[in-house]
Amino acid sequence: MSKLLKKQMIIDGKPADSLSGETCRSINPANEEAFAEYPRAGKEDAEAAILSSRKAFDAGKWASAPASRRGKVLWKLADLIMQNRQELAELETRDTGKPIRETMSIDIPMAADVFRYFAGAATKIHGETIPVNGNFFHYTVREPVGVLGLIVPWNFPLLIASRKVAPALASGNSVVLKPAEISSLTALRLGELGMEAGLPEGVLNVVSGEGRTAGQAIVDSELVDGISFTGSTGVGQGIMRGGAVNVKKLSLELGGKSPNIVFADADLDLSVKMAAAAIFYNKGEVCTAGSRLFVEESAYDEFAEKLSARANKMVPGDPMDENTRLGPLVSQVQLEKVSEYVSVGREAGATLSAGGEKHDIGNGGKGFFFKPTVFTEVKNSMRIAQEEIFGPVLSVIKFSDVADAVAQANDSLYGLAAGIWTRDVKKAHQVAQKIQAGTVWINTYNMYDAASPYGGNKMSGFGKESGMESIQEFYTNSKTVWVDLN
Ligand code: NAD
Repeated sequence: MSKLLKKQMIIDGKPADSLSGETCRSINPANEEAFAEYPRAGKEDAEAAILSSRKAFDAGKWASAPASRRGKVLWKLADLIMQNRQELAELETRDTGKPIRETMSIDIPMAADVFRYFAGAATKIHGETIPVNGNFFHYTVREPVGVLGLIVPWNFPLLIASRKVAPALASGNSVVLKPAEISSLTALRLGELGMEAGLPEGVLNVVSGEGRTAGQAIVDSELVDGISFTGSTGVGQGIMRGGAVNVKKLSLELGGKSPNIVFADADLDLSVKMAAAAIFYNKGEVCTAGSRLFVEESAYDEFAEKLSARANKMVPGDPMDENTRLGPLVSQVQLEKVSEYVSVGREAGATLSAGGEKHDIGNGGKGFFFKPTVFTEVKNSMRIAQEEIFGPVLSVIKFSDVADAVAQANDSLYGLAAGIWTRDVKKAHQVAQKIQAGTVWINTYNMYDAASPYGGNKMSGFGKESGMESIQEFYTNSKTVWVDLN
């Protein structure tokens, strides 16, 4: 085995191992080999990080620094991300199986873009003067929340971390970032780059370790004022319960089972291509994946045939190869989960029209590669259409008219995102209004921008990420001030 890459946490501005000396290993999903080692933080490491953030916040060096100074440091951090783009992209690819062409062109540059957006936002955070009855000067101010725990999943490790760290720091908070245990490397590197950019010690602590120990310590701590969490609905529910200890402010970005609705009047070839991208991008390991594809009855057969043919042509490959567009699933656990759902779909009577099995890239069967999978003749009530698979498995479902499309699309516990494909502008807007989702894409899918508020409804959570709305909803508190002018 080649030598393991070693990484450390950042606690109080310094590199740190876990107090117990325990470590985790990164497994490359393309060859199943361990390639990096990093600290497995326990409760006491998380508590040291929290204490460091608490002290930094209470000392006020960052929170009361001029907003333009905070903006400058965040801009520098964006520059450093881009200067280290190749290294970060390779770490992300080896950690998660994302194709290098995507980490180089999407994950890393978008993370830098998020820091640039919030660098600019830092000087635009302000309250309002609100007229009230009586002779008073009455205004609001926006203040940082305090110490925030930022807990992120493994599917977009650096990008999701950046979406939380950047607005948190722009607003003057101090943070403890906890990446997912299987994909911590770019977050640990972000901690180092944060120091290089000039963040005061304690403002950005990064703790790698398991959710049930390090993560839970953040949830349980009374020194933490709020948590922004992205991950599964089950863990999110636990965070709501645990956060009650000191009534923490919460923002929860949870699971999804997003409907992608294609009307017969849509550009069918384009929507076939985009429907495939909506589910197979990042191997379906996307919270907003268009995993329930609703197609109008009159176009269903043609659409299903074209889509299945397209899926059959998409072949997973080595993610480090620049030509690869589809990498391996992130882990053995995900591979098993996806395989099990294929059996569930078959047993329920859905037709397996593409994929459905592990793929060998000529690596002696090594790697968690899975063929893009399409089930047709799916009923929305089937488990494969109701439960989040978080893999490259698409359910194609028929609908008869607008009312039927909306009713079936909304028949889900989740409410994260939705897609609508039609040439009829009125119909597009009518359906967009009726869909229960935090984001609706019309004749496009999976678009994201640092300026665009993003978040879910129903069991997909609450709160907004990105845009100025995230600063207002979560990363700052509003204080009301009354001044008697009599
Ligand atoms: P997960 O819920 O298992 O873990 C997410 C994070 O929570 C990890 O860092 C984990 O260590 C931590 N964690 C686990 N148990 C914890 C506990 N008891 N206390 C505190 N922290 C704990 O999710 P995952 O498997 O990493 O990611 C996949 C899930 O994330 C999917 O459900 C997906 O839909 C969701 N997701 C949602 C969005 C969104 O924006 N809505 C984006 C990406 C992923």
